[in-house]
Amino acid sequence: MTDKCEKGDDEQLRRLERRVDRERAARHEAEKLLEQKSRELYFANQRLLALAEGLEQRVEERTQELVAARENAVRLAERDQLTGLANRMCFARLLSEAIEGWSVGNHRFALLFIDLDRFKEINDTVGHDAGDAVLQHAAALIKKAIRGHDIVARLGGDEFAVICNFIESPCDVERVAERIMAEFQKALSFRGRILPVACSIGSALVPDDACNQIDLQRFADIALYRSKSAGRSVYTAFSATMNVEIHERQTLESALKLALRNGDIEPWFQPIQSVDAGDTAAAEVLARWRKADGSIEPPAKFIRVLEECGLMRELFVSVLTASCRAARPWVEQQRLQYLSVNVSPGQFKRGSLLDDVDQALEQTGFPHGALQLEITEEALIYDLHAVSSQLEELTQRGVRIALDDFGSGYSSIGYLRRLPIHTLKLDRSLISDVATDVRARAIVNAIGEIARALGVELVAEGVETEAQALWLGRAGCNLLQGYLFGRPVSRETFEAQLLRAAPMPSNLSA
Ligand code: C2E
Ligand code: CA
Ligand code: CA
Repeated sequence: MTDKCEKGDDEQLRRLERRVDRERAARHEAEKLLEQKSRELYFANQRLLALAEGLEQRVEERTQELVAARENAVRLAERDQLTGLANRMCFARLLSEAIEGWSVGNHRFALLFIDLDRFKEINDTVGHDAGDAVLQHAAALIKKAIRGHDIVARLGGDEFAVICNFIESPCDVERVAERIMAEFQKALSFRGRILPVACSIGSALVPDDACNQIDLQRFADIALYRSKSAGRSVYTAFSATMNVEIHERQTLESALKLALRNGDIEPWFQPIQSVDAGDTAAAEVLARWRKADGSIEPPAKFIRVLEECGLMRELFVSVLTASCRAARPWVEQQRLQYLSVNVSPGQFKRGSLLDDVDQALEQTGFPHGALQLEITEEALIYDLHAVSSQLEELTQRGVRIALDDFGSGYSSIGYLRRLPIHTLKLDRSLISDVATDVRARAIVNAIGEIARALGVELVAEGVETEAQALWLGRAGCNLLQGYLFGRPVSRETFEAQLLRAAPMPSNLSA
């Protein structure tokens, strides 16, 4: 029994031991696995950490690149590529900062607008490389002339601007402007050519002239415009009267454009008297502006403005068409031989004259042979060859050509040989003196001889007295025009005069 019992205990003990062994082995396995897994986890973690660090570094690098690129873009966007100066965008910002600075710190400052003289000419004739070189040269000259705390910018084209900070008095601005112009005395040598550089300057002051950006720029621009129209190398400081003038000028320009469109600039007619026949042979067409209040303005009030606005072609077309329409019956009824219409010198440059004449005559049914165009020597100075060929074509159509204001300018006799001229119109300044001045008489007599020899008709303008008329008739003038025979008058009045066929004041051909 005891043996049996002992045997059973041993068996149980061995089983227990085997279980303990198994469990130990299992725990050992588990510990090994755990160790392996935690090692793997550790390395994975390390890898992740390294990855995260790399990523962070790359993000940092990318951010820095982005900031640099953005800064570079801003720098580029605010720089003028050609001259390296601040550009228009940057200038606008700097100017607005300067105005803010004034309102905070009361620092008076000036804005200078600088425009190169004859830049377009250099650019067009010498080439764009030369133009670029001139701009770079100009930028360097301006930079040299201004003071350390001034700012210079290129606004575009040949326009520059300077902000002159810390101005005590307008004299300070003047000194800066003078220094700039003195620097511009240095001509630029470009590929063996000497290129002239000169500039015009206009300025306006904060707060004296304006306290906001828009007015300040406008006033500096007005001052610059004044410098430009005064000629080359001029400096002008803005003054309040200029603003009024510019405003008046702008109002005049718009009123004139409207008047042209509405046909309020109308042809008036001045009789041209035949010395032999003693009656009205022709009429000069002179433009008059009939204003809304009924008043009549002479050409002195508007021709220059129209010229400056490039509207002389429009004036010509309008006046020619209206005068031909009015004069067609007078010509058809043989009351008038021809109509004499003024042509502005610039019309030859545009090359539109022939078409304009053809169109007006076609529209109105006016005969080419009853039209005379008055040109001045100024037209011939531009390009004699181009003008001459246009005159030839007009002559071939039957249009007569008159050389106006002869004796007032260069009065080259050579033109009479080279150009198809039918009529010479002696200038009023010569006529006013013929009754008293021996030299004026000698000149008129000589011109009379030449005109006769060449078979050119001679007209005396501005005849006001009978003494003048008598003498001029004897000196060989075929036609006379002046207040003595009639002032320029409206279509209706002229028509009435023609119908009445006013007799001559005396026997001029005697
Ligand atoms: P112009 O062509 O020399 O015209 C003659 C000017 O002398 C006219 O002045 C006329 O009124 C003036 N006149 C005529 N006889 C006498 C006189 O006996 N005494 C005085 N003191 N003056 C006399 P107006 O009409 O004021 O024209 C001035 C200028 O304006 C013209 O000079 C002409 O150059 C220009 N003009 C007028 N109408 C036109 C036009 O339709 N087109 C162009 N391009 N120019 C025009
Ligand atoms: Ca004339
Ligand atoms: Ca004249």
